[in-house]
Amino acid sequence: MKKPKISIQNLFFTYADGTEALRNISLDIYAKEIFVLFGPSRSGKSTLLRLLNRLSDLTEHTRRQGNILFNNNDIFVRGADVADLRRRISMVFAIPTPLPGSIRENLTYGLKMAGMRNVVKLEERVERSLKQAALWDEVQDRLDESAFDLSGGQQQRLCLARSLALEPDVIALDNPTSGLDPLSTSVVEESLQELKQQYTIIFVPHSVQQAARVADRAAFLLDGELIEANEASKLFANPKDKRTEDYITGRFG
Ligand code: ADP
Ligand code: MG
Repeated sequence: MKKPKISIQNLFFTYADGTEALRNISLDIYAKEIFVLFGPSRSGKSTLLRLLNRLSDLTEHTRRQGNILFNNNDIFVRGADVADLRRRISMVFAIPTPLPGSIRENLTYGLKMAGMRNVVKLEERVERSLKQAALWDEVQDRLDESAFDLSGGQQQRLCLARSLALEPDVIALDNPTSGLDPLSTSVVEESLQELKQQYTIIFVPHSVQQAARVADRAAFLLDGELIEANEASKLFANPKDKRTEDYITGRFG
């Protein structure tokens, strides 16, 4: 038996107003796979992603039951190093959020914060992360230009590169292509196939079609419940639950 990279165990999560965003979710995610979390809006996908690196701590008066293990360690244990967790499980959001500053500064900022000073090493990391995010060819001659001068698709890949520069273990992408044109979307989708050689990828797609294109394994969430999880080839061709079938054939959502 392979050991899971992330093991979600009987997880419940309730917001201050009583919304039960997650109800009894159990799910294992393995190293170096693309794991897709899909379902209609408000099914709990973002809530689940934000729990994985404890961004959920930033929302007040929530209640949680159940557990998440990362590399077999309880992420909620007292004294857990949350900053380290957030570096290891890195998030890319729907709307790209470059930092004010140049393309290069966007990539070196976190590294400098982490204490890296060696200019040669910093430059190597800039080049490698931009290549991994499939952006290098487009920006290598303009690294000192403002990140805000990039197109939306380029900004999204810059944010991906910024995550990669910090050498995470898991990259969680919450609907990263929602604002992108079809060409940029396919560039991002293709780069995921490369990235999974090295990283574990958790991906919330913008459509069922995208889910089926990128997933190795997938989980269908509905109203805070896990309806089913399986290898993508099985889940999309042969869903076990009627609700999954109705959703993937476009009957609702
Ligand atoms: P998804 O990403 O699948 O669209 P979310 O995780 O954003 O789903 O939302 C799940 C449920 O939790 C929804 O009912 C949503 O309204 C609710 N929710 C999300 N964030 C908050 C919040 N900060 N406060 C209260 N309810 C929230
Ligand atoms: Mg969401």
